[in-house]
Amino acid sequence: VFAHVPPYPGDPILSLMEAFQQDARADKVSLSIGLYFDEQGRLPVLDCVRQAAQALSQNAVPCGYLPIEGIAPYRQLVQDLVFGADHEAVRAQRIATIQSLGGSGALKVGADFIKRYFPDAEIWLSDPTWENHLAIFEGAGLRTHSYPYYDAATGGLRFDAMMDTLRGIPSGSVVLLHASCHNPTGVDLSREQWQQLIPVIVERGLIPFVDMAYQGFGDGLDEDAWSVRALAEAGAQAFVANSFSKNFSLYGERVGGLSVVCNDATTAANVLGQLKATVRRNYSSPPTQGARLVQQVLQSPELSAQWAGELAEMRGRIKDMRARLHHALHERFGERRDFGFLLTQRGMFSYTGITEPQVHRLRVEHGVYLIRSGRMCMSGLSRANVQHVADAIAHVLG
Ligand code: PMP
Repeated sequence: VFAHVPPYPGDPILSLMEAFQQDARADKVSLSIGLYFDEQGRLPVLDCVRQAAQALSQNAVPCGYLPIEGIAPYRQLVQDLVFGADHEAVRAQRIATIQSLGGSGALKVGADFIKRYFPDAEIWLSDPTWENHLAIFEGAGLRTHSYPYYDAATGGLRFDAMMDTLRGIPSGSVVLLHASCHNPTGVDLSREQWQQLIPVIVERGLIPFVDMAYQGFGDGLDEDAWSVRALAEAGAQAFVANSFSKNFSLYGERVGGLSVVCNDATTAANVLGQLKATVRRNYSSPPTQGARLVQQVLQSPELSAQWAGELAEMRGRIKDMRARLHHALHERFGERRDFGFLLTQRGMFSYTGITEPQVHRLRVEHGVYLIRSGRMCMSGLSRANVQHVADAIAHVLG
């Protein structure tokens, strides 16, 4: 019966993680998977989360089904965090927000909703983008295209080419944008560039789908959401997927949100209803614990402030690692090769320009693990291993 089912080749990033775990070398370094590690190479348990968990455990509540759309106060807190509590669209109640299974779940529910209510819409993704974007949107039956984004020659953005493409695509097309800390390149639009892009989106009737998986990892919680807020302010009707996997270090809890910015409250209520219908036929209702933890933190001014501080520490450590690696490479290469992109790219990832054969040599000869594309996860660096990584890179780049 199942003889025609082919083997699953596996996820390249997760397979690499397995290879890393089996590597016996003491000085091995994992710079592949997109997780935030602390200076000791551990996945942190945030103190605010620990306190929230303690508070929750003191008055255990039964674990019934949540509403299809998730916990009401949590959904409001998500909206306040993503858009700002004073945002006109929040106050006008013209945003429909559901609790989602991480950022991926938000993308999937959004993709299914788009397929049903905009059956002819096609989606445009940055070149390159997070690989699962393609899988999720194609899996939902949407046709995908790419718009120019990363400039391999400069380690920056092909902004003019991106704008030319977006000016030429059919109105009603969906455009996937990364709010900040672009995965996999680390290259973001500047505010000035967003200010040029947003009117084109609004005037051309394009539908932005903003993926915000790293809120707080670029410049700050409000700063990183600036583009989302500006889009909503300009009248764009938009999808926004946000994730608490990284910024709360709650990967396995699967907690996030999907918000749909509408023109008015009545439309938002209808959209919310159809998002619920989409969830109902998908997984019926979301899980409880992660959202309760996040709610517990966000509803308390003290815990929220603590969270912002812990997030600032993570952000600061990544920036410090960028600076240290840049310094170490500059010492080895001088003017022969420019690593300035390490300082301008933002968030957890950098596209290094290291080629696939060089990535292979880094792993085999030095135990330094990057993914095939040359994307480096900066949070795998620490003060203890950055010199080793710089030496390894210098060795393979020659
Ligand atoms: N979008 C992007 C750009 C990501 O990098 C990730 C996580 N790697 C996600 C979405 C999914 O996040 P989650 O783990 O919360 O599903």
